This record gives sequence, C-alpha cells and structure tokens, in this order.
Amino acid sequence: MGDIRNIVVLTGAGISAESGVPTFRGPDGLWEGHRVEDVATPEAYRRDPDLVLDFYDQRRAKLATVGPNPAHEALGRLDAQWQGELLIVTQNVDDLHERGGAERLLHMHGELKSAWCLACGERHPFDGKMAAYPACELCGVSGQVRPDIVWFGEMPYRMEEIDAAIATCDLFVSIGTSGAVYPAAGFVQSARYAGAETLELNLDPSEGSIFFNESRMGKAGDLVPEWVDGLLD
Ligand code: NAD
Ligand code: ZN
Repeated sequence: MGDIRNIVVLTGAGISAESGVPTFRGPDGLWEGHRVEDVATPEAYRRDPDLVLDFYDQRRAKLATVGPNPAHEALGRLDAQWQGELLIVTQNVDDLHERGGAERLLHMHGELKSAWCLACGERHPFDGKMAAYPACELCGVSGQVRPDIVWFGEMPYRMEEIDAAIATCDLFVSIGTSGAVYPAAGFVQSARYAGAETLELNLDPSEGSIFFNESRMGKAGDLVPEWVDGLLD
C-alpha cells in the first residue's frame, strides 16, 4: 500500500456479533426471530406500532448486558492514535463503538439510544421503553416518540459527510457487513473511483467482495486488532 493518511472505516452487524449482538440475517434468515419487513420499515411501524416499539425496546435493553469486543477496542485505539483523517461510519445501531473508545464516529442508520419525536421533529437521548408511549422530553406530546433508526425506505443520515470523506480517503476498510444494504454497499466502488486502497475484513465473502483490492476472512475480533496493530506500527 502507498502512503496512507485519510481512512474511512465502514462497519456492520458482524463487528458486534462476538459481543453477543446477533447480526441482521441470521442462519434462519430472520432478525431475532422476525422478518425484517415486519420490524424495520415505516409500514410495519404504522401497521403494528406496539410490535415495532417493543422490538427496539428489547434491542436497547440488551445493550446493558453486552460490551465492546477486541474489534471495537482496536478501532478505539486507531481513533486515539491515528494522526491523519479518520471517519468510522457504522451501520450499527448499538453503542459498542462509543464504549470501545471511538470518537470520530457516525451512525448512518441511527441509534437505539436516541428518540425521534414526530410531534416536534427533535431527537434526544433515550434509554427507556417506547412501547409505554412516553411523552417527548422536549415538547411534552405523548405517543409520538419513535426509534431514531433509519428503516428500509428511509434516508440514511449524514450522507454528504460520508461521501466527502470517501472522496478524499486513501484507504477504505469494510468490517463485518454483508454488502446487501445500499447505499453503504456502494461505498467500496466510490472509494475505488477516488483512488483509494480497499480492504475487506469479514467472516465470509460479502456480496461486494470482488470490488475490494484485498479480502481477509475471519472473525472481526481477530482480524481488526491485527490490521490496526499493523497500521500503527
Ligand atoms: P448483516 O447481518 O447483513 O451482515 C453481517 C455480516 O457480518 C455478514 O457478512 C457476516 O458474514 C459477517 N459476520 C458475522 N459474524 C462476524 C464476525 N464475528 N466477524 C466478522 N464478520 C462477521 O449486517 P449489515 O451488513 O450490517 O446490514 C444490516 C443492517 O442491520 C444495518 O442496517 C444495521 O443497522 C442493522 N443491524 C444492526 C445491528 C447492530 O447494531 N449491532 C444488528 C443487527 C442489524
Ligand atoms: Zn417532541
């Protein structure tokens, strides 16, 4: 690899798997026992808000029982020590990157611990139960607080910042993502177009594997610390 200064890291559900947070499409094709279209779309929320709110309440409660693994911690070290530009873009809605020490971090699909009030449009930190239809902490209106999560059919957050970082990066690294969900799945091609080196770290080849200069297959908890240590050497 040539001179590397600017790095963009994309992470997906696979980086949190070893922490005990199941990935999106498990071996049964389901997310924690549910079809994706029944819990992760605006239509599902309109049709059966109790089910959807309770599903995310359970995912949020689970965060208290899990912790960051060596892959999250390695990215935290990278963030603390890397002198060049770094942007960690996660598709994950858990808070394990933060707890692993990452700061130059952006949640493109939202966060479990954030609430979005449809009455006032504002977002605020949240750690309770939405299925109890709480009042918004900001405007006081009840029953209008939804998970601050980007569902299928909704627009990911902060795409301009992400595009700008990719356009100027020298290295793009994708970790634990299946490459099935756009626009994130297209980042590798944008990075190639920008002239960046591209590296994939995943348990098995993702759908976009052929677009990467290099693919290393294995567990994130092994591969990510190895890669970070090599880079910081
Ligand atoms: P995905 O479930 O579609 O793909 C996960 C990928 O990780 C797979 O390619 C799998 O081979 C790989 N993987 C599994 N275990 C691994 C390990 N130990 N080390 C390395 N790789 C491993 O997930 P995705 O691509 O992130 O897309 C799913 C969507 O699901 C995202 O939009 C995200 O918001 C949501 N989601 C988030 C979480 C979370 O926040 N932790 C969990 C489930 C789903
Ligand atoms: Zn409000």
